[in-house]
Amino acid sequence: MVIINTFKKQTQNIHQLPSGHFLDINAYHYFNDDASQSKVKSVYIQASVHGAELQGNLVIYELHQILRQVKVLGKITMVPLANPLATNQKNGQSTQGRFNPITGDNWNRNYTDIITEKKELTGLDLDSFCASNSSLDDESIRQNFKIELKKALTNYRSNIVTKRGPSLNKLPNLTYQALAADADIVLDLHTGPCATDYIYAAKYQQQLAKDLNFPFNLIIPNKFAGAMDEACFAPWLGLQDALISKERQFHCDFEAYTLELGNEELISSPNAKRQALRIADYLVSRGVIENLPVTFADLMQRPQKQIWCLLKDYCSLYAPYGGLFEYHFSPGDFIKKGQSLGRYFFLQELDLEKNVEDLIANKDYYLINHNISSSVHLGSTLFQCMQNFHSY
Ligand SMILES: [Zn+2]
Repeated sequence: MVIINTFKKQTQNIHQLPSGHFLDINAYHYFNDDASQSKVKSVYIQASVHGAELQGNLVIYELHQILRQVKVLGKITMVPLANPLATNQKNGQSTQGRFNPITGDNWNRNYTDIITEKKELTGLDLDSFCASNSSLDDESIRQNFKIELKKALTNYRSNIVTKRGPSLNKLPNLTYQALAADADIVLDLHTGPCATDYIYAAKYQQQLAKDLNFPFNLIIPNKFAGAMDEACFAPWLGLQDALISKERQFHCDFEAYTLELGNEELISSPNAKRQALRIADYLVSRGVIENLPVTFADLMQRPQKQIWCLLKDYCSLYAPYGGLFEYHFSPGDFIKKGQSLGRYFFLQELDLEKNVEDLIANKDYYLINHNISSSVHLGSTLFQCMQNFHSY
């Protein structure tokens, strides 16, 4: 193997435990010294902000192998195991993972839409930025805005820490946002509970997201709702709107996606190789890395079709009863109206007239996620499905 790229490792603290021990994360930076920084795209990739969602770390490992052999034209930063507090938090054999065990908050809902925060906290004034930049070319505006974003995040962080002390939720999220502040593309690697491969893409990125070749695309509104991808694209959409309102045309080509890479808790090397190749192929399409060698390109598998639906048509099916439930379909499966989604077993009273009952699909669905357990409470989420779906 010929190694043609080098990388730099940057270690930074992300948390301190009650025992006084520190938890660190490592950011790996891959770049091309010859690249003109104004012309090439910068990419930020992180994995495992939800601690039980492990597959993205393997995907980063596989991307690392690829990036040692394929020339990097832009800049790529990758952070595996981005949230060690969440990764290490176990409850029996299960990883607590999705929620901060101390505050109960979802780790992926506490990001900050930095341009909507008070100017006194961020120092960012979008109107005056637009006034002083609108005569520049688009690329210069992008470069200057990245600098403003980084400054605003730094100011906000130090101001909230000064005023009220660091917040257990906010601080790691602001760390990730700062690492991603100079990116043109952000990929936040997650998994579902028991899931197929799918992607969250904002409406304005719907056509762009096709290049990631995920079999399922969930199209979310162009709005901030607390997640990393939204926190990254919202300032750029805000900039676009502000410039257009001043009659300066500007096209937001910033991309940020949440990639869901199968099941939580477990890792799979064959899947990681396939998923990393899809991402590498996408990075080729964006000019971030050179074409993949034939050895890689031969292994590339694109789905025959991509299914998509709007977020409003991504529905949870809740358990109508408590009981034991046997799943009849796997994530990624198509379910026809009238088919049995699964079978309830009510086994406390064995002499019931009816100990077994099938749950019937009331319409056509694509199954994206199902509960990881067969022991289900009344009202718990059994399935997450696409309805009213479309395909490319
Ligand atoms: Zn997640």
